[in-house]
Amino acid sequence: MAILEVDDLRKEYGGFTAVEGSSFSIDRGEVFGVVGPNGAGKTTTLKMLAGLVEPTDGAAVVAGHTPGERAMQRKLGFLPEESPLYEEMTATDYLEFFADLYDVPEDVASERIESSLDRLDLEHRDRQIGNMSKGMKRKVAIARALINDPEVLIFDEPASGLDPLTTNHVIEFTEELSEEGKTIVFSAHNLFHVESVCDRVVIMNDGRIVARGSVEEIRDDHGGTEYHVYAT
Ligand code: ATP
Repeated sequence: MAILEVDDLRKEYGGFTAVEGSSFSIDRGEVFGVVGPNGAGKTTTLKMLAGLVEPTDGAAVVAGHTPGERAMQRKLGFLPEESPLYEEMTATDYLEFFADLYDVPEDVASERIESSLDRLDLEHRDRQIGNMSKGMKRKVAIARALINDPEVLIFDEPASGLDPLTTNHVIEFTEELSEEGKTIVFSAHNLFHVESVCDRVVIMNDGRIVARGSVEEIRDDHGGTEYHVYAT
């Protein structure tokens, strides 16, 4: 059963069309990939789903709500491509602060934070975020997206710019979340990052969906070379 439906979404910035004719639906528990090169319209699409960008046209329904509705925000976790974190805080303080914003009771929050950071294998949790590596910061941002135990997770390029070990960690953790029943939208520049984790993918280019299917179907249809399939 679909938990997320997108119908003919379009976004224009001035006279420029960033996303056009975007339609898809995502089943509960599915990991859905949005793949494409720089400027393809992935972030714009994901932000429209998260209610952070207003579509020019078209509609989306996420967990029974229109993006942006307060009730939907409670069911959604969003990992932005560039995640601004409070650099002077420790990971734990930062996540506790966010838990409070979401009205998560203190004891539930501590358990949730510890569990996420354990599973993500984040060390040095009491180090100031400003002194953490990029991979560590990404893990903190992922734990933040999970703070409200959301039904739907939108991960914008969660693996980009990470070393292979951290990339694997993030991908394996995403797989685990999906096995636990979370629905995940996962964007990436290439199929390499999504092939093991995504059930279905759409490929975007110049604001449009140009291919869709399982990773295998897309690889077969396009000879494995188009759309940055294995480019890094
Ligand atoms: P990347 O992989 O580089 O993050 P992307 O696929 O996420 O790319 P978007 O960030 O969605 O692509 O951008 C799609 C197009 O829309 C780009 O040409 C971008 O310059 C343009 N765009 C995005 N946001 C804005 C904005 N706020 N104002 C004007 N143009 C924008």
